[in-house]
Order: sequence, then C-alpha cells, then structure tokens
Amino acid sequence: MRAALRRSRRLARWQQVLLTLLGLAGATAGGFAALTLYSQMQSNSTRAIQRWFSDPSSRPSLTTVQRTPCPGAPFLLPSSGLIGLLWRDTAFPYNALRRHTGIDIFGDGEPGTVPVYAAYHGWLTRLPAWKASVIIRHDDPLQPGRTIWTYYTHMASRDGSTSYVADAFPPGTREVWVAQGTLLGYQGEYSGKALAPVGMHVHVSIVTSEPDGSFRNEARLRNTLDPSPYFGMPLNIASKPARPIGCQASGAAVY
Ligand SMILES: [Zn+2]
Repeated sequence: MRAALRRSRRLARWQQVLLTLLGLAGATAGGFAALTLYSQMQSNSTRAIQRWFSDPSSRPSLTTVQRTPCPGAPFLLPSSGLIGLLWRDTAFPYNALRRHTGIDIFGDGEPGTVPVYAAYHGWLTRLPAWKASVIIRHDDPLQPGRTIWTYYTHMASRDGSTSYVADAFPPGTREVWVAQGTLLGYQGEYSGKALAPVGMHVHVSIVTSEPDGSFRNEARLRNTLDPSPYFGMPLNIASKPARPIGCQASGAAVY
C-alpha cells in the first residue's frame, strides 16, 4: 500500500517536471518565433538577396556601381553589386538580437574576379592569420582628429585555400599607405566557418578605435559606425531603402 503511494507520488513529481520542461520549450519556441517575426519586419533585405541568387537575370537591375564618391561624401563604394545586407540589418542570418555590423556587397561574377577597392586613403594592415581580410586606418573625415578603420572581409575561396587579397598585401602587412581606390582584392565566399553557406560578397564595416588607437572588435555592433554619412547613401536598415541603393539626394537626411 505504502509502496503504491510512493510510486504514485514519484509519478506525480515526474509529471510536474515534464510539464515544466514542456512549458519552457513552448516558451522558448514562442520567443524564437516572435524574435524571427520581429527581425523580418525590421528589414527588407532578404527579398532582394533571394532574387539576386535565384534569378541571375535580375542582377543588373539590383546592382549599384559607384566609381566616384557620392556628392559631398568622402568614401567610395568599394565594390559593385547588390548592397544586400545593411548596417544594423536583422535579415537572415542576423536577427534583432544580433545585427549586422557593416554592409555586404554581392558582386556579379565568379569568386576571385569582382574587384574590391579602398573606400578611402589610409594605412593598411593585414594580420598574419588573416586569409580574407584587410583593415585600413583613417583620420575620420567626418570627425577630424578621431581615428577610424575600414574593414573588408570574405576575400578568399570558400574553403580558405585561396586568398583573393591583392598580392601587394601579404599576411603580416603593417601600416602600408594606400590611396583611395587602390585594389585590395576580390570578392569571395570565405566565412571562416566550414559549413556556413555564404554567397559571394565583400563585407565592409567602419570600426572605431580603442583609446590606444588600435581597432576594436568589428564583430560587435557597438564598435562600428553607421556608414551612411561616409558613403552618402542610405545604408542603415532603419530606412529600408529600395534596391539598388543610390546616392542620397543632396540635402536629404542620411539615416
Ligand atoms: Zn557582412
């Protein structure tokens, strides 16, 4: 009799544990669904990127080509293509809790053939371990006296075996002067993660400095700047610009 009672109590406890776990799983799934929905509503980038990859004939109509800086802006768009993901973008694979830190330009062509140029003059560094990236130090043209950096990445083959960074900048390059428009390399597919599928593009971000003048961790949104005023283009996802993105009309607010 007592054994039967103990058994039924044990059962009741397990049922409680099970119900609690189910509740937590339900709340987590619900929270994730809400986050996904909210993130999708904050961005208009996914549709353009999907079109770019599913219908290559759409590419010319989605491409931004800007060989000189927009009127009144200091930076040159470093590559031609669809400016797909924008700054603070929440589109896949990002979300409202993990936003994109720069802009992604998806070029039309084979990996290793679409050129990437320096957005602005400065001093280029490529750390010894960098297969696909370079970073350039600048005196901030919009806030003279402040040091900022432009960071360019994904310039290697998908598996990382072939770097597409220009031969002039081998690993270990430090503080080499480059003029605006200098060829840095070519768009690639290297993400650093073996299984992450990355369509060919170049990622460009503007990174702030530590107090000692070195660059901060680019992967953190708070260490990056809104590129819109530097390029004279609406590159903050808050404005959900139509693609292709062009120069901001002069006098218009740049988000
Ligand atoms: Zn990116």
